[in-house]
Amino acid sequence: MSNSVIHDVVIVGGGGAGLRAAIAIAEHNPQFSVAMVSKVYPMRSHTVAAEGGAAAVIKPNDSLEDHIYDTISGSDWLADQDAVELFVNEAPREMLQLEHWGCPWSRDPDGSVAVRPFGGMKIERTWFAADKTGFHMLHSLFQTTLKYKNITRYDEHFATKLLIDEGRCCGTAAIELRTGQMHAVLGKSVIICTGGAGRVFPFTTNGAIKNGDGMSMAYRAGVALKDMEFIQYHPTGLPGTGILITEASRGEGGILVNKHGDRYLKDYDLGNPLDVNDPSHPQKRTMELGPRDKLSQCFIHEMEKGNTIETKYGHVVYLDLRHLGKKKIDKKIPFVRELSTNYAGVDPVHEPIPVRPVVHYVMGGIDTDIEGATSISGLFAAGECACVSLNGANRLGSNSLTELLVFGARAGHGAARYATDNPEVNVNTLEKQADDEQKRISRDYINKTGGTERIVTIRNEMHEAMEGGAGIYRDEKSLTATCNKLAELRERFKKLSLDDHTLSFNTELTAAIELDYMIDVAQAIAHSALARTESRGSHQRLDYTGRDDEKFLNHSMTYHDGDDAKPRIDYKPVTITKWPPAKRTYGADSGLSKENSAQ
Ligand SMILES: Cc1cc2nc3c(=O)[nH]c(=O)nc-3n(C[C@H](O)[C@H](O)[C@H](O)COP(=O)(O)OP(=O)(O)OC[C@H]3O[C@@H](n4cnc5c(N)ncnc54)[C@H](O)[C@@H]3O)c2cc1C
Repeated sequence: MSNSVIHDVVIVGGGGAGLRAAIAIAEHNPQFSVAMVSKVYPMRSHTVAAEGGAAAVIKPNDSLEDHIYDTISGSDWLADQDAVELFVNEAPREMLQLEHWGCPWSRDPDGSVAVRPFGGMKIERTWFAADKTGFHMLHSLFQTTLKYKNITRYDEHFATKLLIDEGRCCGTAAIELRTGQMHAVLGKSVIICTGGAGRVFPFTTNGAIKNGDGMSMAYRAGVALKDMEFIQYHPTGLPGTGILITEASRGEGGILVNKHGDRYLKDYDLGNPLDVNDPSHPQKRTMELGPRDKLSQCFIHEMEKGNTIETKYGHVVYLDLRHLGKKKIDKKIPFVRELSTNYAGVDPVHEPIPVRPVVHYVMGGIDTDIEGATSISGLFAAGECACVSLNGANRLGSNSLTELLVFGARAGHGAARYATDNPEVNVNTLEKQADDEQKRISRDYINKTGGTERIVTIRNEMHEAMEGGAGIYRDEKSLTATCNKLAELRERFKKLSLDDHTLSFNTELTAAIELDYMIDVAQAIAHSALARTESRGSHQRLDYTGRDDEKFLNHSMTYHDGDDAKPRIDYKPVTITKWPPAKRTYGADSGLSKENSAQ
């Protein structure tokens, strides 16, 4: 039998979005009890790994209009413009609020908040705390939650299923990892804040816990996953480990060179008319701060031209920081020096860092409106697992940490209001569902023996299929092969059995459930990519090279309709408020530059 506990609002996920949502609810109604379920201790959430910074307009030379335009243009016009406007308007207040909660933003000599340039932003607007921004943000949020007695944490509790009664979400079934006991964590509303899903690819900056759990749970419950074909590759990951070398290293002046020592980006049109062609421009933009999707695509072209360096971990180019000097590196990006030295054996003060594109972020996610509400009554989502949609076809670096604050808070308020208006919960029905879930876990994993499949085999084959068929460049043939392979893996997963049949901290069990989640997410990515016969932002089709606004100024909506082999894809129009589709540019004269041609 499962245990049950009841709260007002249940949050699944203790990263930046989950913590911000919890504070919003606790402040909204001090009488409300908030449950926060997290499979790891909150400070181990991936937000802690964010380095570079968080964007918000603060300087007098910046404007809300510019931040809005950069985000929309960066998204290749797939972002919903009402969501972008709301985000940009609320961002400065949220960032200042975080300072009041203790976040030590780096400062200019005059004491004002310092900002650094980031890719795709035409003006410096990225706030930072050296190069451990996520660490400091998460600490500030976490310590703030501690002062609210009405927040109860369920750390190291692994959510496996949303509990839904007559179309309304009222909690989650979660395994307490220490005991293996299933709990029904019930509430009047639920917010999913489970983060991204980079682990569906083999080479990623994402921590091992980023498996798309919440995306899959919502998808299985009937919510659409939106814009899943858009996967962000970050151009500078360390070979071998995939550890991120933050864009701040280029923001501070780092350059990318190929094996001839050539700054190869000059040969590509990045949609940035103010790059090296105009070194006199006061903003001193460089081509290295072009958008991530395009920089990653340029790498592939350099590789095809034979201009990259082959290493035992694949092809690389060099990120050269030497000209910045030791003093600046140690002051502004000390973590970059630490990571490069420890994980690539290269001290960037003296040598260039080998780097290659690496899967970094999932633009798509659980379909929500701008209040964080999903199509299921009482179910909300925020953070990387959600798609509002702010990021469209390509996220601008440093927008997502701010997104956690703005939309985490909104989802918190939305869920709190919902809980106030809908106080009744059918506890018996929900407890019964959690019991059934416990039986399913026992039957399919804990008590099952004799299966012919192993986690590692299926996971490796999924990785190969995703990288091979749904990577930086895709076409019909590669995507069809990936979809077919994933359907096969979905079937073979049923024959999985574990070697570990114990209950306490059974990491083989959680890895199996995470793989189950990842196959769902992988299928949503591959099928939506196959259906989108155009190229836009991070989704580059070799067989459909142009952007097709006639047909595809639409969000893809992927539904699990009960067919494990093939999801259903539908579309929903993008919300355009004031900025009609144009070419992507990053100069002050946005909209006037050359063709998009870094294909
Ligand atoms: C290396 C790296 C650097 C980055 N740098 C930047 C940057 O400089 N600027 C920027 O804007 N963005 C950056 N990003 C992106 C940004 O950090 C993430 O998008 C963001 O932190 C995600 O926050 P989140 O709250 O949505 O999820 P996370 O912080 O990933 O938290 C997810 C939470 O969900 C919980 N969870 C997941 N599944 C379950 C389950 N089944 N049961 C219970 N709990 C569960 C986890 O325990 C965790 O608490 C970076 C990302 C990476 C990987």
